[in-house]
Amino acid sequence: MNNLLKGVNLYLIGMMGCGKTTVGNLLASELGYRFIDTDDIIVKAAGKSINQIFTEDGEKEFRKLESNVLSQVCAYTKLVIATGGGIVMQKENWSYLHHGVIVWLNAPIEVLYERLIEDKTRPLLQDTDLKEKLRSLLSERHGVYAQADLHITINAQQTPAEITQHILEVIPGILRSENSQN
Ligand code: ADP
Ligand code: MG
Repeated sequence: MNNLLKGVNLYLIGMMGCGKTTVGNLLASELGYRFIDTDDIIVKAAGKSINQIFTEDGEKEFRKLESNVLSQVCAYTKLVIATGGGIVMQKENWSYLHHGVIVWLNAPIEVLYERLIEDKTRPLLQDTDLKEKLRSLLSERHGVYAQADLHITINAQQTPAEITQHILEVIPGILRSENSQN
């Protein structure tokens, strides 16, 4: 697998709660890659939480920081990069994502809801009706997430390790199809 990927980065995209951070960490250790989370880099650089950035500086400023981080990480190889749920909504970000293989973790609303109901660290989800908010965000983003190279359907039963194995199994298929176009 390592030989096949040749150091190409993996970008994980998908809704908050779909498992980008959890699965990304496992994927990186299986591949001998480094794991990074764009949210973590932003928090470290800004010296405040994502919630604080949203309230003090606004979502627009957060999106700028996010694009900046993405533009910088694509200079490196052998990375698994977990991105923020909304990163796909800015067109310029796709030019960075396409430096690597883009993996969409597609989890149903019910699964996201169960995982996020107690989580107070997610700025866009401090809504009174969490399920409705998730539905509206997913309907806005679904078509954009679908531009990923790999679509991984997540259900409530799969463990992070099983999802990781599944991704490792399907990657060779898309690498072959990309090579055959050249
Ligand atoms: P993201 O980074 O996409 O927002 P996380 O990896 O932070 O998602 O996962 C959100 C929550 O769901 C965390 O509490 C995590 O432990 C849990 N989680 C992630 N993947 C799974 C899984 N396959 N099964 C059960 N719980 C999971
Ligand atoms: Mg995360």
